[in-house]
Amino acid sequence: MDDIKCKICQDKIDKSSGKFCFNHKLAKTKLQNGYELWLKAYDSLPYDDFLQRLLDLGDLVGAFVKDLAEFELYFQETK
Ligand SMILES: [Zn+2]
Repeated sequence: MDDIKCKICQDKIDKSSGKFCFNHKLAKTKLQNGYELWLKAYDSLPYDDFLQRLLDLGDLVGAFVKDLAEFELYFQETK
């Protein structure tokens, strides 16, 4: 099935990702790394709170990361 599109931007999907395009796959990696860093700074931080705080940073967050944070917050399917 070559017609699978990125779940966020409908761009062509990155084969090694499975559901995101190259840019959003990269954003996913950044997001995960960021979450691990924040977890060390806070004793506990639910993933949803992390995403919300990230979105509160506004323009400090890259557009692709922001897309992904919104996606995961509102259409969460990574359980
Ligand atoms: Zn995308």
